[in-house]
Amino acid sequence: MAVETCEICPNCGKQLQVTFGERPTEERLTWYISRHCGDCGYAEEADGYDQLPTEYRDLEIHQNNTWTLQVNSLGSKPAKGLQAIKSTLNLAYDTLAVLKQDLPTRLVSGTKAEMTFYKKRIISSYDDIQLVIERIIQ
Ligand SMILES: [Zn+2]
Repeated sequence: MAVETCEICPNCGKQLQVTFGERPTEERLTWYISRHCGDCGYAEEADGYDQLPTEYRDLEIHQNNTWTLQVNSLGSKPAKGLQAIKSTLNLAYDTLAVLKQDLPTRLVSGTKAEMTFYKKRIISSYDDIQLVIERIIQ
């Protein structure tokens, strides 16, 4: 979901329209920031990967809420499930040991696109796992 905000045009000093968003693919989480000035025509595009730059990520969360990725079941091969979670989220082994005994558990929280990306990543290496993305009501 694209988010809009306003900044000052570096060219004419008027208000710049800024749109940004994230795109979760199976390999990477990517983002874009698009700036356009309706007064002088100044335009700028920025792209990157992993999490959005902090101020935009904060705006995204402010407008579209915080989301979590919850694991409900590790499926038929729990060790494989834990390995898939560990390699995607860089969790420590002791965190994983606790996680296994306390399902369902929230793994991580952030933007919806981040959760979608993590879910895709985990499922791409082990698909017999039950993961749910949930919105945290603030
Ligand atoms: Zn301008």
